[in-house]
Parts: sequence; C-alpha cells; structure tokens
Amino acid sequence: MDADVIVVGAGPVGLLLAAELRLAGARPLVLERLAEPSAEPKARGIGPLAAEALRRRGLGEALDAYREQGVADKARDHGSEKGHFAQIFKIDPALQEEPDRVGALIWQRDLERILAEHLTSLAGDVVMRECEVVALVQDDRGVTVTVAGPAGERRLSAPYLVGCDGGRSTVRKLAGFGFPGTEPTSVVRRVLTDAPGLDRLPAPGWTATGRLMRAPGMVATIEFDGFPEDRGLPLTAEEMRQSLLRVTGVDVEIPQVRGPLRFTDGARQAATYRIGRVLLAGDAAHVHSPNGGQGLNLGLMDAVNLGWKLAATAAGRAPEGLLDTYTAERHPVGAAVLHNTRAQSALSLPGEHVAAMRDIVSDLLDLPDVNRYFGRMLNGLATRYAFPYPATHPLTGRACPDLRLVTGPGETRTISELCGSGRALLVHAPSQPEVAQVAGPWRGALDVVEATVTDRDDLAAALVRPDGAVAWASGPGPADTVTLVTALRTWLPPA
Ligand SMILES: Cc1cc2nc3c(=O)[nH]c(=O)nc-3n(C[C@H](O)[C@H](O)[C@H](O)COP(=O)(O)OP(=O)(O)OC[C@H]3O[C@@H](n4cnc5c(N)ncnc54)[C@H](O)[C@@H]3O)c2cc1C
Repeated sequence: MDADVIVVGAGPVGLLLAAELRLAGARPLVLERLAEPSAEPKARGIGPLAAEALRRRGLGEALDAYREQGVADKARDHGSEKGHFAQIFKIDPALQEEPDRVGALIWQRDLERILAEHLTSLAGDVVMRECEVVALVQDDRGVTVTVAGPAGERRLSAPYLVGCDGGRSTVRKLAGFGFPGTEPTSVVRRVLTDAPGLDRLPAPGWTATGRLMRAPGMVATIEFDGFPEDRGLPLTAEEMRQSLLRVTGVDVEIPQVRGPLRFTDGARQAATYRIGRVLLAGDAAHVHSPNGGQGLNLGLMDAVNLGWKLAATAAGRAPEGLLDTYTAERHPVGAAVLHNTRAQSALSLPGEHVAAMRDIVSDLLDLPDVNRYFGRMLNGLATRYAFPYPATHPLTGRACPDLRLVTGPGETRTISELCGSGRALLVHAPSQPEVAQVAGPWRGALDVVEATVTDRDDLAAALVRPDGAVAWASGPGPADTVTLVTALRTWLPPA
C-alpha cells in the first residue's frame, strides 16, 4: 500500500481533505493531473461554515490578509458588498441572525495556495503532480489506481480512495456512482480580455437572446441555448466571439483570451458518497450553478466531515457505522444547495414572466424576515445533522459558533483556538465536573477544557466533534451525562 488514503485531485477540497486526514493520524497521498495549480478565477470567497472550519485549524490570519482586497474586488465587480440570490444583490449581512458568523473573501487560487502550505506543514510533500488517474479497481482489501504521467503509467494502492477530482470526476465514473439530476438551462462563457473592440458592445444586461456581463478586464455571456456539443473542450476565442455576436449582435474580435471558462447550471448529485472503499467529496459529489457562491462552502465542509471519520476507519479504530454517517450527513446538505440553485436558475431565465417574478422576489428581499430566510438558505448556518440520540440542546447537530470562553482568571480563549489539534473537544463549566468524569475513558481521543462560556447563557458544556459539529451540549444545571456517554460512544474510538 502506498498510503492510508489516496486523494484524487489537488483542488481546494482534496487539499483540505488530505490535511484533515493527516491531522487525524492517516497518511494521505494526493494525485493531481495538472503540473501547476490552476489560475482560473473561480470562487471569490467561502461561506461562514468553511471559514470557521479553517479558523479552527489556525488559518484565520491567512484568510484575513485577503479580506480588504476581496471587499474591493467584490464592490468593483458587483457594485455591492451584499450577497445575492439569482443575481439580486440584496442579502444584507447586517440583517442576518448571526451577523458575526461571516465567510472569507479570498480568490480560489489564493485559498488553494494557503491550503497547499497548510498540508505541506502537516504532511510534507504528499502531492504528486502530473499524475492523472485513468483506471481504478477496488476489492475487499483496498483500491488500486492506474496513473498516467509524463513517465508513463504506474499503479498505486491504498485501503481507501476519495475522488476530489471536480465536477467531471473520473473517479465517480470509474467507480460506478449514479449521478442523477437536471440538465442545464443556461451556459455561461467568460474570458479575461482587454480587446479594444469590447467598447462597441452595448451596456451589460439582458438582450433578446441572452445576457451580457462586464467587469474590468472581463467579458461574459449567458445563453439559454447553444450548448456546445462537447462540454469537455476548452472555450476558444472564436466560440466567445460567436456567443457575443448571438447575444449582442456586435462582432468583436478577441485576439487573445486568458482564463477561458465555460460552465452551465446543470445540477447533479451522486446518489451516495461511498461505494465500498471509494468515496467522493466536493464537486465530484455534486455540481450546480455557482449562483450564491455555495460550492466551496459545501465541498470544504464535506472534507472536514469526512477526514476524521475516514482516518479512524482506515486505522481500524472507528466506532461501528462511523463512515456511513458521511453520506447520511452530507448528502441532504448537498441536495438543499442543488434545490436553491435550481430556483435561482428558474429566476434567471429570460422573458417577461420571469422578469415579473424577479421583481416580486426583489421586493420581498426588502422585508427583513425574508432577507434572513434567503441568507440562512445560502450561508448554511442552519444546517443541523440528525444524530442517533436525542438532541436536547438547540446547538446539538449544528456547527459550533466560535464561542468565547473564560478558561482561568483573566484568561479567555475561543473555541477555534482550542481546536487546532483536530481532536474532539469537551468544554465544561467548573460547576459540572461530572462531565469530565464520565468522559475519562475517552481522554486519549479528546481534549477536555474547563471553562465558562461567556456569550451564551444556555450553554454550560459541549462536546465538539473534530469537524466542529456540536455532538452534545448542556445548559446550566445537572448535565445529561447519559446522552453524553452515548455521544462519546457514537463518535470516538471505543474506550
Ligand atoms: C465561475 C465560477 C465561480 C464560482 N464562484 C464560487 C464562489 O464564489 N463561491 C464558492 O463557494 N464556489 C464558487 N464556485 C465553485 C467552486 O469553484 C467549486 O465548487 C470548487 O472548485 C470545487 O472544488 P473541488 O476541489 O471539489 O474541485 P476542483 O476545484 O474542480 O478540483 C479538482 C481537481 O482535480 C483534478 N483532477 C481532475 N481529474 C483528475 C484525474 N483524473 N486525476 C487527477 N487529478 C484530477 C483537477 O485538475 C483539479 O485540480 C465557482 C465556480 C465557478 C466555475
């Protein structure tokens, strides 16, 4: 075996998954077909859940270094700092239920660099570039892939393999995952260019045949037919020219294109995220329109959900059924994102009927409750995993906010500062010593901290899983230690 887990794809999800695996004690090996990281300007930010997950691993400062630039870029390109639903930029961060829980504005290529450095600091040089997975077989002992590179083909094996190889995932196809969903309604073509002829284009906006979008150094179209026959082929300057001609009636020659990008709003999701020893995460498991900027929040949270579970399973120390909770928890979250992106696609179709509907949704977004409804839908903060035991506290099953804790006289810490080890964390008030007592047998897999939570008066103790989900929580008064023991048995290696 060449590793405990082979991760296919060194995009953001593969890099974070490999780091999480290493943190949890597994040896990952990452196979990436590209010689260099992609410079395509894709995501311009990550949602609050993913940002909190990275802060828990000590990457907060690195993210914050890009914030100012990100705010400026977003204001320049969208004319607003607000979030959007179907390009209606009205979702107001200040109106949201938990306004302190915010995402990070960072371009995807910068995020990938931070994640690559984080992985190297934990695991050394485990990314093999110019290694394209072209074949895969699994049996009851492990998975073997055939990898093609400049030096020819070779085989590599591991007990488990995760496809983080993007929307057109080879792993998904080779392993036989079903990928049901809906066909595209629109195709976006985008290039980076300063071609002088662009000045002749009309103002950005709807036309009779599509929509034109502009930002400094960038031009893009949306069309509702004219899908390319082979979506795997890269967008060319000529295809962009023809699209501009169809949408605006203006023939603009584009001598050179940089960063050509073509994507659709096809929405598909793997029927399960695991077949035997092969798993999927990120875009390999779900594709949808980038409307609302949810792809990375979703994919990075797949990675943090899976890393510790798979590491424990590969080491043979996972509680029964732990790995199955990955699909059980993450599939519904992905399905919800597909659902709202389909609604956004419907609201983005051309024609007077949809335009009327957009006007009404836009007016509704002026109502604070509606604004919060849409914000909650897109930021994922309301995500609540269902656990196989009673959830007696409102935080159980939800991502733990970055609570402030008093850990000693004049000493305060935050949850994220206590989670760098990647182990589960049990926090309890000094008045609840019984919590630490019952957790004694699990001490080998758990950090226990005596502290008082200062920013919630309904919380005296919490068990936080390695992925930041609250596994159990208790208010002031006698703690429900029976359920705590069930939670510890459910998530941690047998005591
Ligand atoms: C225009 C655009 C804007 C977007 N904006 C946002 C946004 O604002 N916010 C947001 O959250 N999301 C956004 N997204 C979505 C986001 O970019 C994706 O969700 C994200 O890239 C998914 O990461 P990933 O690691 O799963 O896959 P990818 O980033 O696609 O990475 C997959 C990796 O696998 C490699 N690979 C593929 N096949 C093989 C193989 N056979 N062998 C070895 N390696 C292989 C690829 O080279 C690649 O490096 C946007 C997407 C687009 C297109």
